[in-house]
Amino acid sequence: MQIATRPANSSSEILAHLPRIGGVIPMYVDGEWRLAAGGATRELYDPANGQPIASIAEATEADVEAAIAAARKAFDEGPWAAMNAADRAALLFRVADAIDARRDEFSRIDTLNNGKPLRETQYDAIDAANCFRYYAGLATKPHGQTFDVPAPSQTFTVREPIGVCGQIVPWNYPLLMATWKLAPALAAGNVCILKPSELTPLSTIALATIFDELEFPPGTINVVPGPGATVGHALASSMLVDKIAFTGGTKTGRSIMQAATSNLKKISLELGGKSPNVVFADADFETAVDYALFGIFANAGQVCSAGSRLVVERSLRDRFVERLVERAQNIRVGDGFDPQTEMGPIISPLHRERVEAYIATGVEEGAKLLCGGERLGGPLAAGNFIAPTIFDGTSPNMRIVKEEIFGPVLVIQTFDDEAEAIAIANDTVYGLAGAVFTGDIAKAHRVIRKLRAGITWINTYHPTYNEAPWGGYKQSGIGRELGTYGYDAYTEVKQINVNLDVAPSGWFADRRV
Ligand code: NDP
Repeated sequence: MQIATRPANSSSEILAHLPRIGGVIPMYVDGEWRLAAGGATRELYDPANGQPIASIAEATEADVEAAIAAARKAFDEGPWAAMNAADRAALLFRVADAIDARRDEFSRIDTLNNGKPLRETQYDAIDAANCFRYYAGLATKPHGQTFDVPAPSQTFTVREPIGVCGQIVPWNYPLLMATWKLAPALAAGNVCILKPSELTPLSTIALATIFDELEFPPGTINVVPGPGATVGHALASSMLVDKIAFTGGTKTGRSIMQAATSNLKKISLELGGKSPNVVFADADFETAVDYALFGIFANAGQVCSAGSRLVVERSLRDRFVERLVERAQNIRVGDGFDPQTEMGPIISPLHRERVEAYIATGVEEGAKLLCGGERLGGPLAAGNFIAPTIFDGTSPNMRIVKEEIFGPVLVIQTFDDEAEAIAIANDTVYGLAGAVFTGDIAKAHRVIRKLRAGITWINTYHPTYNEAPWGGYKQSGIGRELGTYGYDAYTEVKQINVNLDVAPSGWFADRRV
């Protein structure tokens, strides 16, 4: 493995355009920058070297209540929902342009705060701008339907905003996850209260500076950084929030679903996965090896759709695994600011310990560690680095095969025929993603149609499109983000019936005479 280190770089320069109150990065509520009620703050750390990078306001339940009150007022009385779709769209196009204009800043903020390499955060910033652009365009497109009901009625539907949306996102794609929530919700005329991960709020604060500069109506977008157990729970359980949209772990998703029963709010859940990457012996060898690496080691495996189970045909297996291990050992791991870095650190010391505990469990369970498994030392010792890790000799009941690790750990499973490949691929409580590599296009289609997963790829892994629906089967979630599905998830459907023959119905006799 190669190690990449940091060029000279200062966090104060990267964060220079973020607002401060008394040295603290504030939250954004009701169109104002504020410190937390009671003044609580949280220190943020660089995952690549453990150094403090900034201090940010830590919202309390009182702050969430203030944000909900502002959002409620903005929705019930404010101009956003009532604004012409074309005017909303125009503002959202300007958000996209502003992200593009500050692309390097967004990229550097997420690399500093999350650790992922610049080459990944550059893509995230480009995707975020395009996501706003996509939904700005969608805002003015037709959304209703007309129905040929019996005369004399004419029936049609319109889509209306749901109202106040609580949105809770994780740390693995800080800017992009916030964008996937805000862009469709705002395009459809909703108002939002977004809770970033307590670990990675900085690019969301940078995004809020754009909303602020563009003078979005106060209360339309509120950003409340703080812990999930208090801030997130307050949003999910509030009687005044109309929808909760969540991306994160399946266990948290379950508790959010329970909290949302308070007022039966609408709910979207994008949860975890243990996705199979099925490689047949007739696949293009180097392409399949390349995407097997990319599927699990992109973003250090901290990707909900990661191809964390390699399901490979027995006749190919030894040659494939040998090449895979050779390439995994050559991945350049290190500081995300080094342009040569291919894989960055784990998000936090705590999460690194969780990943290490899974690696130890795998060894105890009798799986064969082919490479990695260790913490990286030397110039990377102060960061949260783990070497790319591959296990072979697994069996279906091992915890490393069944549970989401959310780190750079791949497990290998082997099959003898197509039916067994499908059975192994579907042997999971999750159903987020999956891929098939083969030179036989008919087989590719047969297998992909049998996968119980919401996002699938043939002869590739990971490409994600603003235009196409994203979400999972089984315990990987409820609903879909992105595409028209993502827009619809932020709307109520209203049926409107028009009587074209305005005359009494005559159902009850008129006995006046
Ligand atoms: P968590 O579920 O721990 O956290 C996600 C978000 O939920 C964070 O903002 C967190 O706050 C908040 N949260 C935590 N507890 C509660 C609660 N009781 N009520 C309300 N909100 C709460 O996940 P991670 O941050 O660890 O992210 C990793 C997980 O996310 C993985 O399982 C991964 O698969 C999944 N994920 C799924 C994606 C998808 O599209 N399906 C995309 C990305 C990640 P806090 O700031 O305190 O942590």
